[in-house]
Formats: sequence, structure tokens, C-alpha cells
Amino acid sequence: MLVVMKNDATEEQVQAVIKEIEKMGYRGIPMPGAERTAVCIVGNKGPVDGIRLLTMDGVKEAIPVTKPFKMVSNETKPEPTVISIGDVKIGGGGIVMIAGPCAVESERQAMTIAHYVKALGAQIFRGGAFKPRTSPYSFQGLGEEGLKILAKVRQETGLLIVTEATDNASIELVEEYADIIQIGARNMQNYSLLRRAGQAKKPVLLKRGLAATIDELLMSAEYIMSEGNAQIILCERGIRTFTNTTRNTLDLSAIPSIKELSHLPIIVDPSHAAGRREFVIPLSKAAVAVGADGLIVEVHNDPAHALSDGAQSLYLEQFAQLMKEIKMMGRAGG
Ligand code: PEP
Ligand code: MN
Repeated sequence: MLVVMKNDATEEQVQAVIKEIEKMGYRGIPMPGAERTAVCIVGNKGPVDGIRLLTMDGVKEAIPVTKPFKMVSNETKPEPTVISIGDVKIGGGGIVMIAGPCAVESERQAMTIAHYVKALGAQIFRGGAFKPRTSPYSFQGLGEEGLKILAKVRQETGLLIVTEATDNASIELVEEYADIIQIGARNMQNYSLLRRAGQAKKPVLLKRGLAATIDELLMSAEYIMSEGNAQIILCERGIRTFTNTTRNTLDLSAIPSIKELSHLPIIVDPSHAAGRREFVIPLSKAAVAVGADGLIVEVHNDPAHALSDGAQSLYLEQFAQLMKEIKMMGRAGG
């Protein structure tokens, strides 16, 4: 249930409602909105008797939330969430462009790619320092050394940094160095990691699991939000299907589906969906056409020698072409 406060409700009245909810044995989480604050009741197993709350000062109405995910639902917050980091805005109508290699391999590699994508209008640099690899014998990332390189990239280029935390140890370091903490597809249902991300003071980029439904993705976002972190960016990155001409299948329907259910921004990763660089530009355009709030793409200065995901990494010139085509569609760069 959602307790909607009046426009002129005071902070004391909001706190009194939260106290009353706690007396009933639940948790009340304030959700400040553009016009009014609402208090979301969580922890209840069945319907909540809201009559007691309706008579309290400052309370306008009590609305039942029909979905299992509550705080991420747009029943709770009808206006879209816009995440602002410095000058960069994610959600609310623009297209955020995130680009960089799959993995940080060296300072020279990261810097070369970063300067190039920055000059073309990318706002955020991606690059893994902790890599979740299918084989234990594959390159696992540079670890903290990679994070230090990312910090230098931010310092030299002004790009924001997003990088993956693979477990509860690496998230400590990632939170320190990055602007956005990425939770990868394989960890979408790692609930202890989600809870830890929910306690972080940085926005979280949550990727959809390889075989996860939209409801499951939203429930994972709910884990993060229920710990107090409302800055979540969802990411569709392709799911497993029977098709084998691409690495995964980009589920374009996920974008309007999520927009229908949630206020959170949703971006698309065409690189991991396709697994082939030739498909990245067409899939990016499709993602923008269906309303994605941004793109995260893999770009490499020497894909043939990339230590991971070379086949799906755009050549630098291809990234220039992608930017041109997205700009022609009219919403790029916010
Ligand atoms: C990545 O972004 O490099 C990555 C490993 O993505 P995913 O978790 O979507 O496979
Ligand atoms: Mn990758």
C-alpha cells in the first residue's frame, strides 16, 4: 500500500505516518516525488488495513499497490526517475551514451578509447576491472589496478565511469572508484550483492539476467531500492533463446514493458545481445526507436587483440558512425 501525503504535509507528519506503520509491524519508506511525498508500506504479507492511517494529519489517500514490486512500480511513483550525476542525466527523455572496452587492459588502451568516444559525445566510460568470465582460465580483469586506470580516465577526460562489481568484496572497491556500480547479468539474482548495492551511495546499473523475466528484473531492483538506494538504471542486454545466429536475443519488448510497469530508466546493451559488431548499429537504432533511455556499447581500439569480447566490440570508426546515426534519430546526448 502507498500512503499519499497532501502537497503541504510537513516532515513531522510524514514521520508520524512512518511510526504508525512500524507499530503495525511493517516498514514505511518515504518516496519524495515532484509534487508530494508518498510512504510505501513494505513487509506486509497480505492487504494492509489503511483506515488508521487515513485519519492521520497530512494524509491524502491510501492506494493499494497491486504489483509484487512496490517501490520500483510506477503505481508508487508515476513520474519517470531521472538520475543526475554531474551534468549527465539518465532518464526523462534524452539518450545517455556509454561506451568503452569490455575490460580495462592497460592505461594506454583505456585512454585511447576514452579520448575517442568522449570527442564524439559519449558521456560515460565503461570498462570492467573485475570480469565474470565463463572460463576460469580466461582473463579475469586487472582488479584494483584497472579501477585506478578508470579513475585516471575520469580525471583526464571528464567522462563518468561505470564498472562492474562481481561480489561483496569487489563492490567495496568499485563503490570507491566508480560513478556507477554495474551489477552484471550473471549476478542479477545475487541477493546479498543486491542488498549491498542498495546500501551504496552511488547509482547502480542493473543488467537483466540471461534467463530472467521482466518481473524478476524488477524484483531485483526492488532489493536494491528496499535498502535505500533509489538510483537504479535497468539494462536489457539480450536473453537466451533457441536462436544461434547471435550470442543472445535482444528483447526489444522489454523496453516498453518496463516503461509500462516502472518509473526507472532503462538502457540497452546491443553488444552483449548481438555478440557481433555488425549488428550493434542496427540494434542500437532499434533500441532508441522503442524508447530506450540510453545505450551501453563495447568499443575497442584493436578488437582483434581484445582480451575479452573482441568480436562484438566496435572499431573506433564504427562508434563514430553509431553516434552519427543515433544523432540523426534526434534524441542523442540528452
Ligand atoms: C559486461 O558488461 O562486460 C558484461 C559482462 O555484461 P553482462 O553482465 O550483460 O554479460
Ligand atoms: Mn563484455
